[in-house]
Amino acid sequence: MSAKVPSEKKLAKLVTEILIELGEDVKREGLRKTPERVAKALTFLTRGYRQKVKTVVNNAYFTSGTNHMVILKDIELYSLCEHHLLPFYGKCAIGYISNGKVLGVSKLARIVDMYARRFQIQERLTEEIANAIMAETGAEGVGVVIHAKHLCMMMRGVEKQNSEMTTSAVLGTFRTDEKVRGEFLSLIK
Ligand code: ZN
Repeated sequence: MSAKVPSEKKLAKLVTEILIELGEDVKREGLRKTPERVAKALTFLTRGYRQKVKTVVNNAYFTSGTNHMVILKDIELYSLCEHHLLPFYGKCAIGYISNGKVLGVSKLARIVDMYARRFQIQERLTEEIANAIMAETGAEGVGVVIHAKHLCMMMRGVEKQNSEMTTSAVLGTFRTDEKVRGEFLSLIK
């Protein structure tokens, strides 16, 4: 994994080669600008490699005296599976019990985005989001649930068009306290 900004020129050249190998005429009208566009799109879709939690969060904390559960759900998520480089997309729900340090709602969404804009598997994405929130806020507990559809399953292979994958990661009291976990799961329903 590197934080280096990719060369769009180099990427475009590689995309041209892929198109030629797939039997396309890269000179035809519709494809003339495609390699550059794909290079730009891929650079954007992997920009999470060049971001850090610290800079994404940028010290945007609130302090809160009460240790109640904070829930944010229906966070849209778009990522690329690392096995086929095809999209998977869905929704993410986050819950945590703060130790006095509360993150702004937009920052939670940006943490999700940062990890989603990398080549991922859904399980690791879920865990990375949970770990980052735990580490950044020093929360008592964190829970993350992701429901997503994978185009690599829908368009190829088993072609299970309606299958949705659910993954979860629970840390701290969300793992050790069944009541806390139960409250989280019922609140995100
Ligand atoms: Zn895949």
